[in-house]
Amino acid sequence: MINNSSKEIKDRIRYGSINLEYHIKRSKRIKTSELIVDSDRIEVRTPLNKSLEDTRNIILDKADWILKKQKEYQETIPEIIVPTFEENSTVPYLGKNYRLKINKKQPINTIGFMDGEFVADITNSDVNENAKSQARELYEGWLRRIAYPILETKTKIYALKLGANAQNISIKSSSKSRWASLTKTDSINFNMHLMKAPQEVIDYIILHEVCHLKVKGHSHHYWDLVYRYMPDYQEKINWLNVNGKVLIGSDKITSEPQYQCQCDK
Ligand SMILES: [Zn+2]
Repeated sequence: MINNSSKEIKDRIRYGSINLEYHIKRSKRIKTSELIVDSDRIEVRTPLNKSLEDTRNIILDKADWILKKQKEYQETIPEIIVPTFEENSTVPYLGKNYRLKINKKQPINTIGFMDGEFVADITNSDVNENAKSQARELYEGWLRRIAYPILETKTKIYALKLGANAQNISIKSSSKSRWASLTKTDSINFNMHLMKAPQEVIDYIILHEVCHLKVKGHSHHYWDLVYRYMPDYQEKINWLNVNGKVLIGSDKITSEPQYQCQCDK
C-alpha cells in the first residue's frame, strides 16, 4: 500500500511469479536514486520528485540482480562467529575469530590479547552468566580502546591522500548506529563493532567517509572517487552484507555503507 503523505513507504511489485516487497525513502537531500539490497530487505532512496512509476522501474530493471544478490547473501556463511563468551569460545577481531580464555577468581578484572588469543581475568565468577557478562564487558571495552588509535591513524592517512580534512573522530558502540557517519562539522563517528571486521573492510568504511568530506551524497561522481582509491570496494560491501549483522550481533542494523549500487532513471 502506498501512503504519499509519508516520506518512507512500502511498495510491492510483481516480477514473474515473485512479489518483490521494497521500501521507498524519499528525501530532498538525495540527488541520485540509490538501490540498497540486504539479505532480507530492498530499499530505494530517491529524490522527492521521483514518481512511483520511476521507482518501480528501478526495481524491475534490477530485479534479476536483486534476487541473485539476496540468494548469494543468504547462502554465504558468515566468517565471523557471534561470541558467546563461554570459556574457550571465540571472539572476533580484525576479521578473525580468536580463542577466549577466561581465568576466574582473579584479583582484578582485565583482558589482554597475546599470541593469538584473548585472556580475560575476572574477579566475580560464581555464576556462569556473570562470568560471561564480565568477559563481554572487558572485551568490548578493549575494542573501544583499541579502535581510537587505529581508526584515527587510518583516517589521517586517507584524508592526506585525498587532500581532505577530518576534524575529529569518535567511537560509538550502539548496535543501532551505522558503521560510520559524517557529522555536519566534518567529524567522523565510527561504530566500535567495525573493529571485528577485516582491515581492508575497515579501510573501505574510512575511505567511504573521507570521500564524503570531498563529495556529499552518493552520486556517480562520489563512487568514482571511492573507486579511484579502492577499485575493489564492492568486495568489501559484499563482505559487510554477509557478516555485518553478525558483527553487531543484531538484525536491526541497515548500515549506510552497505549500498550496493546507485542508479538514476
Ligand atoms: Zn555514504
